[in-house]
Amino acid sequence: MFNFLKEVGRYAKHSFLAGRYIGQGLSVTFDHMRRRPITVQYPYEKLIPSERFRGRIHFEFDKCISCEVCVRVCPINLPVVDWEFDKASKKKKLNHYSIDFGVCIFCGNCVEFCPTNCLSFTEEYELSVYDRHELNLDNVAMGRLPYKVTEDAMVTPLRELVYLPKAVLNPHGVPDDAHRAGMLPSEILEQAVENVNEINSLKNDS
Ligand code: SF4
Ligand code: SF4
Repeated sequence: MFNFLKEVGRYAKHSFLAGRYIGQGLSVTFDHMRRRPITVQYPYEKLIPSERFRGRIHFEFDKCISCEVCVRVCPINLPVVDWEFDKASKKKKLNHYSIDFGVCIFCGNCVEFCPTNCLSFTEEYELSVYDRHELNLDNVAMGRLPYKVTEDAMVTPLRELVYLPKAVLNPHGVPDDAHRAGMLPSEILEQAVENVNEINSLKNDS
């Protein structure tokens, strides 16, 4: 009799848990049912990439000193730095520079470690081609000015979803001055400085 009651108790507990998990799953479904669709009419409308988006890398030929730091920090030694030693000036002379974006993993090491900041990420993400070898860009192609969604007269830019104000899910028609959800990097920095000052003042008081 005791074993039977124990089994019934166990069954009731599992039934309760199963009901709870089904309810949790359906709550997500019901939450989405009352949201509006957020379709972006690409290519007539495009989302503005986030501030630290890693798109096609921009290269400034005149700033490169052929140090090859970008090659050494690249996990796959991808950048090709073609240079020769100029005896007259006793300096390296850059001939060609290229990165194959069909292989690049956009880790950002080369951009981060370049001592002259001649590499920088752009917000260009439309890199599809019919032949993957077309993604092997030389210094001329990489020196092309970055593509910007906000400067293309043919495109309606939409603010990225993470920048929408709190509880707003439709990016269409959001006023520019609407405060976005979350903090800007500058605001996070300000708050961090305030926290450090507060901790220091507490230390001084104790
Ligand atoms: S982004 Fe990363 S993988 Fe691409 S070239 Fe730079 S270091 Fe190499
Ligand atoms: S790290 Fe910068 S300066 Fe050095 S070779 Fe690479 S791109 Fe040129």
